[in-house]
Amino acid sequence: MKILFVTPECAPYVKTGGLGDVSGALPQALAALGHEVCVLLPAYRGMKVSGEIGDGVELPPYGPWPAAQLVPVKIASGVTLLLLACPSLYQRPGGPYVDASGRDYHDNAMRFGMLSRIAAQLGTVHSPLRGWSADVVHCNDWPTGLVPLYLAQSRLISPQEPVAASVITIHNLAFQGTFPMASADVLGVPWQWRGMDGVEFYGELSMLKAGLQFADAITAVSPTYAKEIQTPENGIGLDGVLRARASRLTGILNGVDTTVWNPAQDPLLPHRFGRGNFKGKALCKSALQARVGLPAERGAMLFAVVSRLTPQKGIDLVLAALPKILSSGGQLVVLGQGEPGLQQGLQEAVARHPSQVAVTVDFDEGLAHLIEAGADAFLMPSRFEPCGLNQMYSQLYGTPPIVAPVGGLRDSVTDASADPVQGTGFVLASVDAAGLEEAIGRALKAWQQPQLWKKIQANGMARHFGWEDSARQYVQVYQRAQAVAGAAADPALSPVR
Ligand code: ADP
Repeated sequence: MKILFVTPECAPYVKTGGLGDVSGALPQALAALGHEVCVLLPAYRGMKVSGEIGDGVELPPYGPWPAAQLVPVKIASGVTLLLLACPSLYQRPGGPYVDASGRDYHDNAMRFGMLSRIAAQLGTVHSPLRGWSADVVHCNDWPTGLVPLYLAQSRLISPQEPVAASVITIHNLAFQGTFPMASADVLGVPWQWRGMDGVEFYGELSMLKAGLQFADAITAVSPTYAKEIQTPENGIGLDGVLRARASRLTGILNGVDTTVWNPAQDPLLPHRFGRGNFKGKALCKSALQARVGLPAERGAMLFAVVSRLTPQKGIDLVLAALPKILSSGGQLVVLGQGEPGLQQGLQEAVARHPSQVAVTVDFDEGLAHLIEAGADAFLMPSRFEPCGLNQMYSQLYGTPPIVAPVGGLRDSVTDASADPVQGTGFVLASVDAAGLEEAIGRALKAWQQPQLWKKIQANGMARHFGWEDSARQYVQVYQRAQAVAGAAADPALSPVR
């Protein structure tokens, strides 16, 4: 199958969160199953890519969009990166979505409309890559949400021509890509699709809703999240759309790229370790304490957070439950960046308890690995969590996670109190400060019983979170999407989509 994976971020080139990790790993897992995979990604400023660079293809200006270039780069894993080079849209200081001061770029509709338009073209006979067009276009989150709409439009305009099937994955329903409806003209959204049954969301144009309405198949990044987002409590206004499209929605748990996250081989660690040898982990704890300026106390249980600092991740709950850690003589290390209020709360905790709390406000891949390895327990009291990757990394690094019973956390952590034989972490009974304190209390007790703690660590380290299983599930979804797209392309069966 020829698969085009279109994404606004892809590790290790550009990453702001879990979507970057998934985009780096899933295409490789699909290629390993024998599929032909291209990853379409904007060429942002400062990105370093190594591989065999092919001939660039010129993309002429089109309507409001400037000229651009598509540069294919064959990378080691057998995947071809297609870099969408358009300096006026993508070569900027700042991140993929926000400028250097953290504000959304004013022209994000244009920036990701462009990415979506080129992705859709690559799924038709008008593909700019001569001799290559995708069978399936796999879209990810709102920046790619217009791709299914553009593909549906192509089917409508040229019913005789083959058009790729579309799949959209929801990595986080909270980010919806809403813009003034006036941008529908610039983006070329047909009039008949600008209403409630199309892209309209409370009077605005929602790119994510476009993806959900027009995709041949929808996935969410864990089975529990796929159910949660169909409820009014967790559907963030899109639950009705998702319920209406429930037969097309599948939950597939993300995997872990074990070429990057493996404590036995991790080049970012000062000491490596495995299930049979925990010495390296103890040395990583000392190295971590030294690095973040905490006293090198082996007897202090070291709790950790690596996260965007937002209410979604329950960082306020961590602050509220901090006295429980402090009174036990434990330590807390935090790496993250995000909301100023939460950042300030954490920094105040450092000022009051400098020998027990350390906070690094930054995005630092190396420190994230050292924290996973050196901490004793990992905190993830998320209010909602589509999948979450850190709880999986921490299990593999012998750092039992303390998690909320939501989304992918529920699907990937076994509570050690409920299941002492197979337990890999601690699950909150309620997602609030009391629930977190209670779970921290259970972890503290278990940590004081070395045999029990080792068992919980070993259970987590033995978990298989490989991508191969998930990649096979995606292939099944692609096949179902192709069947749906085939039916939609038959005008006798469905005149619109
Ligand atoms: P989300 O995508 O919602 O932010 P995930 O748990 O799915 O959360 O993925 C987060 C990814 O980003 C993980 O790989 C995590 O290690 C990484 N990460 C988050 N914050 C930081 C940070 N400040 N520094 C380094 N890595 C980070």
